[in-house]
Amino acid sequence: MKKIKVKTPIVEIDGDEMTRIMWQMVKDSLLSPYLDMNLAYYDLQLKNRDATDDRITLEAAEAIKKYGVGAKCATITPDKNRVKEYNLKQEWKSPNGTIRAALDGTVFRAPILVKNILPAVRSWKKPIHIGRHAYGDVYKNCEYRVPEAGKAELLFTDNAGKELFRGTVQDFKGPGVIQGIHNTDKSISSFAKACFTYAYDEKLDVWLGVKDTISKTYDTQFRKIFEEEFQNNWKSKYEEAGLKYFFTLIDDAVARIMKTEGGMLWACKNYDGDVMSDMLGSAYGSLAMMTSVLVSPQGFYEFEASHGTVQKHYYKYLKGEKTSSNSMALIFAWTGCLKKRGELDRTPEVVEFANKLEEAALETVESGVMTGDLVLVATPDPNNRQVTTEEFIREVANRLQKKLN
Ligand code: NAP
Ligand code: MG
Repeated sequence: MKKIKVKTPIVEIDGDEMTRIMWQMVKDSLLSPYLDMNLAYYDLQLKNRDATDDRITLEAAEAIKKYGVGAKCATITPDKNRVKEYNLKQEWKSPNGTIRAALDGTVFRAPILVKNILPAVRSWKKPIHIGRHAYGDVYKNCEYRVPEAGKAELLFTDNAGKELFRGTVQDFKGPGVIQGIHNTDKSISSFAKACFTYAYDEKLDVWLGVKDTISKTYDTQFRKIFEEEFQNNWKSKYEEAGLKYFFTLIDDAVARIMKTEGGMLWACKNYDGDVMSDMLGSAYGSLAMMTSVLVSPQGFYEFEASHGTVQKHYYKYLKGEKTSSNSMALIFAWTGCLKKRGELDRTPEVVEFANKLEEAALETVESGVMTGDLVLVATPDPNNRQVTTEEFIREVANRLQKKLN
């Protein structure tokens, strides 16, 4: 069979542990036999980040800026234990954080739905996509343990040293805690642009919920910027496409989401997105059934799985034991990447290949062939059987082969 040509190089970002093993299997069995693609390869396994003083991570981000589209495997974010385990020069920063900052990107997550895994919420029929604003708020805070009675103030001075604002946070009568957080118009605006762009591409309504009734300056700024972005750049496009932008209070959004069919993009502030994406992930079945894509306001895309490197399974694998790790989200990272590449290159045959690969993967699970994480949550059926990491990919490959013939 003649291989399908992918016109523009794709940025491939390799990673760590069990996901690195699965990444290679997916390429060998599901991609390389069928695709003629040039890969701009960046090896972000922890050893190599250490060897290059983490330059490789920045180079990978630059490559995405150059070529536009990439796929990324999961990578270890080192902590103290990892520094020892890998004998690292230092506790390198999260590669996802570095790439996100370099691309000024927003992360969108969506569940992969199959018929035999029902969401914990009965009314949900379609995926709920989450857009997490991945900048600022409590993730870039300044905090202090107040040891005794005293006064905490919020002070702002401009670059000329002039005091523009001073307000009392609290007159403490005894010990307590304080925290200063911030965000910037630029970042909120990039977030809003990314959300409206993504939802328009995916044909989804956009929901935004914040606490502007309580936070009349901070949260209100999110509401204002989204409203401006929508009015100025999207209103007529959305109307034509039959799509809506819906703003409500965050608690109302949470309550309403439980009663909808799904099928919207939920734009979340940083903390809300962190918490709610984990809730959605587990409500839809498994961490391994969540896709994730980083979208920059300039239109660069990095597709990945939302789970980590599945460390525990890797140690079993190293001991030669059988594993049953789920490669669905990694497969969908590749298909997402190929579909976007095909769309930009105007090569429908690449998009079609990716669709067939997705179908093959979904049908495999729907036929009852699944990894351990899914057997636990699937609708009971005599056909259900747990397979190993390799067997699952082989089964997908068999189905794909049939579809391509
Ligand atoms: P994890 O790798 O997501 O795994 C947590 C648990 O979830 C696993 O132990 C496993 O449960 C289950 N799981 C996750 N993915 C699965 C899959 N594909 N198939 C089957 N089960 C799966 O999270 P972690 O153990 O907290 O983190 C491990 C490493 O990943 C850390 O070094 C962290 O820094 C890194 N990480 C990377 C990314 C990224 O690059 N995007 C994201 C998160 C974490 P059972 O053990 O019960 O089977
Ligand atoms: Mg989280």
